[in-house]
Amino acid sequence: MKHPKEERTLVLIKPDAIQRALIGEIVRRYERLGLKLIGLKMVVPTAEHVEGHYTLDPSWRKVTGEKTIASYRSRNLPPPSEDPLEITAKILKNLKKYLTSGPIICMVWQGAHAVELVRKITGGTEPRTSPVGTIRGDFVVDSYVMSDADDRAVRNLIHASGSISEAEMEIPHWFEKKELIDYKVTHEDILYEKELRGILP
Ligand code: GDP
Ligand code: MG
Repeated sequence: MKHPKEERTLVLIKPDAIQRALIGEIVRRYERLGLKLIGLKMVVPTAEHVEGHYTLDPSWRKVTGEKTIASYRSRNLPPPSEDPLEITAKILKNLKKYLTSGPIICMVWQGAHAVELVRKITGGTEPRTSPVGTIRGDFVVDSYVMSDADDRAVRNLIHASGSISEAEMEIPHWFEKKELIDYKVTHEDILYEKELRGILP
């Protein structure tokens, strides 16, 4: 079994976050937690690559469509369609436009509970309802009301893997094995070693 400190997650800094000059702020938030950056690059993805990313999980279209219908109902609004797949097709079209509009930064972060902790720091999908203190809650104003009215993707600055199994599919979609660097940072001793040895002479 792998040690929990080996857990990895994928983060994409989306084009709007780069335009907002938030690269440093975003990296800082994951870094200061104690997570280790093991892969980093800037790319302009193709629409095919973005579609591939969102459809790595074959159930994504259905689940996201159903989630969106439920979110309209909870706001007492009629969903744009009763067909989850039709709804996701529209979301996907807009996501492709959004993510190919400029450069993005792809990162792999490693550390104990990396997937869960990165999601906690990142916040919920919709910035408007994302808690204060999260990246999506602190740095952007967007909402489903606005993005739906303009038929565009919700501008939420970041993608972060939603589960360990999602991360395991997403990381190889964006990185070759040789682009991920196995190395040690000295603070790992303080985070993970059983004994706090070597501090005092
Ligand atoms: P994330 O993991 O928090 O980014 O959210 P999901 O994986 O559930 O969805 C991926 C992307 O689909 C989000 O970043 C949104 O752009 C879009 N999306 C998801 N749910 C909804 C929704 O209910 N309404 C709209 N308009 N877009 C959505
Ligand atoms: Mg997701």
